[in-house]
Amino acid sequence: MSKVKVRLGIVAVQGAFVEHRRVFERLGAECVEIRNARLLDECDGLVLPGGESTTQGKLARELSLFEPVRAAILRGVPTFATCAGLILLAERIVDDSARYFATIPCVARRNAFGRQNASFTTALDVRGIGAFPCVFIRAPYLESVGKDVEILATYCDRVVGVRYRNQWGFAFHPELTDDDRLASQYLADVVSYAARIRS
Ligand code: GLN
Repeated sequence: MSKVKVRLGIVAVQGAFVEHRRVFERLGAECVEIRNARLLDECDGLVLPGGESTTQGKLARELSLFEPVRAAILRGVPTFATCAGLILLAERIVDDSARYFATIPCVARRNAFGRQNASFTTALDVRGIGAFPCVFIRAPYLESVGKDVEILATYCDRVVGVRYRNQWGFAFHPELTDDDRLASQYLADVVSYAARIRS
């Protein structure tokens, strides 16, 4: 990685945060687990892991983390979200009356691939990367995305990977593979963000 040492805040109220930590530490980033707002302002990037979006949203509110995390995303902190994390970023969720961070103009459907296909792995062509092993676990997809949202990956014509401003969102779990290319690309973003805000 580059010389700029970056610190990532991994939101760790529930779900698969340890897996993200492992990946980003092996790529040379310092990782802190975020369970309260205290360390948030010192983070150069934010990671929203998979898990259960309703539980994560509820806990984030209870721990007074919700507004500070949303504010960090809106102020441009590079954010990497997988699965439940992507659901939290969606402006609207068709099968959930709740709204969470709502910072990506898109509509998400939870558990969208149905029971038969609840969990599966498939290689998809990810924009800017090529064939990438994609692990789906009770994954959402995006039913529609706003015009400024860049589509990075689709599966059966459904959007499963996007980039919008400082936010990267995936319905699948790159952190459960040993392919670090997506995480590295995101980290490059974090490094330039950190260099910019520190100069
Ligand atoms: N099904 C979960 C939800 O709706 C997401 C699953 C995951 O993060 N692996 O929140």
